Amino acid sequence: MQTYISSLEELKSYLNTRYGVENQSPTTYISSAAHLTKQNTLPFPESLLTEDETGGVVGFPLRIPYYYADLIDWKNPRDPLRLIAMPQKAEENIQPYELTDPIGDHEKEAVPGLIHRYPDRCLLLLTSHCKIHCRFCFRREVVGKVRPVNFAAIKEYLLAHPEIREVIFSGGDPGTFPAAFLDNIRRQLSGVMHIERWRFHTRVPAVDPQSITAQWLSVVEKFIGKKIIVIHTDHPNELTKEVASLVAQLLQKNILVLSQSVLLKGVNADVETLKNFFTQLVAVGIKPYYLHHLDQAHGTSHFRISIVEGKNIFTSLRGNLSSVCMPEYVLDLPGGYGKVPIMWLEQISPQQYKARTFEGKEVLYTDQGVTSF
Ligand code: SF4
Repeated sequence: MQTYISSLEELKSYLNTRYGVENQSPTTYISSAAHLTKQNTLPFPESLLTEDETGGVVGFPLRIPYYYADLIDWKNPRDPLRLIAMPQKAEENIQPYELTDPIGDHEKEAVPGLIHRYPDRCLLLLTSHCKIHCRFCFRREVVGKVRPVNFAAIKEYLLAHPEIREVIFSGGDPGTFPAAFLDNIRRQLSGVMHIERWRFHTRVPAVDPQSITAQWLSVVEKFIGKKIIVIHTDHPNELTKEVASLVAQLLQKNILVLSQSVLLKGVNADVETLKNFFTQLVAVGIKPYYLHHLDQAHGTSHFRISIVEGKNIFTSLRGNLSSVCMPEYVLDLPGGYGKVPIMWLEQISPQQYKARTFEGKEVLYTDQGVTSF
């Protein structure tokens, strides 16, 4: 059974079921012509969708798990989870500076499916499938499309590189692997003895926690070494009792649970939301790990804030929150140079920053975000 909504037609049918008959004639209670807005004249359930949402964005299709759709208040056009999940016309405004591969995965792809950027760790991208299509995704050009993977070459590469101590499963989303597939990978990689840590970067626990099966978890447990699950989550409304219950299971299995989030205009880019969010993460047992400045991916400028604004938000948080609740605020440099802490960037002009990479190289970064205060 399909567990997600993947077209506007399916979404309308979902809205019909959820909001019921009472809302099917939104003009019933309008008492004067002055109150008759365009929104009110639309038939239900179109009346719950904005013009921007029904505009027919091409390229990166709609995908929302039913569980996640249930968390959205569809009567609120600015609901933060709705902004994360619903395609908007603004995505068609591709800016000249935006990139198809904004963090330079391609430059660092050692063999198909393996990204080797930092000496002691590598990424395995074994799927391009995700439960949700996040509208700000930096891999939106590859998510949902066929991606070449050469597993024999990956294994050979790992065996030949004893300096790699940590393998990071990313995506797509490794939380979507069937347990048998994950177990097969585990068995094949079990001969690579120098791997000490296995990290799973997944959004599934936050967007469809009940789809993480006991079998999937038991395979994760079987990996030899330290297991780490980094949950991609972006807003306190994602931290439901189902998420808390899953995290409790992970902690019981001695799995380290961290979070990564993206700073997004209209969704979480304000001190109060983030303060609440990071505090709640710790309360359910998740250590905030990374807060990412938004990558310069195609069609994402409506989510972008400036580095100056991001730094101001982060500085206010520092003054308000225990370090236990603070993630590291980072920027993935375009060109494959890796992450740098934002607070280390040196501003050399209103939009230009100098960054020093982990290899000691100096790189210029042009900020394209807009400060809203
Ligand atoms: S789950 Fe991750 S990889 Fe998939 S669309 Fe969302 S941000 Fe992109």
